[in-house]
Amino acid sequence: MVELKEVELKKDKSVFDQISEHDHEKVVFCHDKETGLKAIIGIHNTVLGPALGGTRMWSYASEAEALDDVLRLSRGMTYKAAISGLNLGGGKAVIIGDAKKDKNEALLRKFGRFVKNLNGAYITAEDVGMTTKDMEYIKMETDHVSGLPESMGGGGDPSPVTAYGTYMGMKAAAKRAFGSDSLAGKKISVQGVGHVGGYLVELLAKENAEIFITDIYEDRLQEVSKKYNAKVVSMDEIYDLDVDIYSPCALGGTINDNTLSRLKCQVIAGCANNQLRDENVHGPALIEKGIVYAPDFLINAGGLINVYSELIGYNRESAYAQTERIYGYTLDIFNLAEQEGIHNQAAAIEMAKKRIESIGKVRSTF
Ligand code: NAD
Repeated sequence: MVELKEVELKKDKSVFDQISEHDHEKVVFCHDKETGLKAIIGIHNTVLGPALGGTRMWSYASEAEALDDVLRLSRGMTYKAAISGLNLGGGKAVIIGDAKKDKNEALLRKFGRFVKNLNGAYITAEDVGMTTKDMEYIKMETDHVSGLPESMGGGGDPSPVTAYGTYMGMKAAAKRAFGSDSLAGKKISVQGVGHVGGYLVELLAKENAEIFITDIYEDRLQEVSKKYNAKVVSMDEIYDLDVDIYSPCALGGTINDNTLSRLKCQVIAGCANNQLRDENVHGPALIEKGIVYAPDFLINAGGLINVYSELIGYNRESAYAQTERIYGYTLDIFNLAEQEGIHNQAAAIEMAKKRIESIGKVRSTF
């Protein structure tokens, strides 16, 4: 099951150094020769409940990159569940491979067997490169899966709910930066118009924002552009646009040493996980640039809220109602950050950690 010898080391750090750096409880390396499955499941923290988080399938440049991704993503899930008031821990999985070429029933079901072997400590769902149909295959091997189609009693694709929460967080950030939460006439760039990005563009178009989009896939760009009258820009150009709001909705780490000096926006609010390459460096740097940053794991929690609802008896209306509260939570985080003189991401992490600590104490006694 464990193939440590093949894992390249990140920044001269051993695999165990990396695991202990973020305080992960358990990291499972899954390998199967027959199907070609290479996956890593990261369980970050289970104080509040079982670790729930999607599975991402991606053509990582290296195994070290995949490990780094799963460690960062699973940690983010812990904070996301905690700050959203859910009784869930944080976990995530990555499958190394091209979702368009390498994904098949056997590979997904083998992955399901690995999830099953964790006996509920980890519950999976969809993420980049995965669909509700893929969850059906995983479900054939384990019950520890959410994000199932509505026909199977699930909540279906969580992306529209994630987009709604991101929109709420964006409006709160606009209120902070511009004094009004109206997005009408605001210039907004959306990086990545996949599942969530597409639904977000729909909400922005309804509010008459001026939208700029970019993506790897040309056909998808043309489709979204035509439907919502959005202007297509190149993948690199997105960082130089003179916009009010930049919305990262692709992969993480897009706010980094290279991009920061190029950004001209006043607000950053998107659904991508781990947008700040290094939160300790780029969180404070955003304050210096006068950019209002809406913490990613707070405003993209709609999907998690939706899949959590699935576990306790799915109710779409209540999932949306709970997601709408992201607006108020985001404003609370801005206030907390200001009071404590810290950056917004740090304030959100502080609030999440406080809940884990206090509920952990409640649960330590009968
Ligand atoms: P998706 O795969 O459907 O969409 C991602 C899109 O980004 C794709 O169209 C891809 O081509 C594009 N992309 C990738 N790299 C790019 C780049 N460098 N420049 C421009 N476009 C690029 O995934 P999704 O489900 O929409 O998720 C998007 C992000 O939101 C991910 O970071 C994911 O972890 C996060 N997220 C998703 C959900 C959800 O409910 N799906 C929930 C929380 C967080």
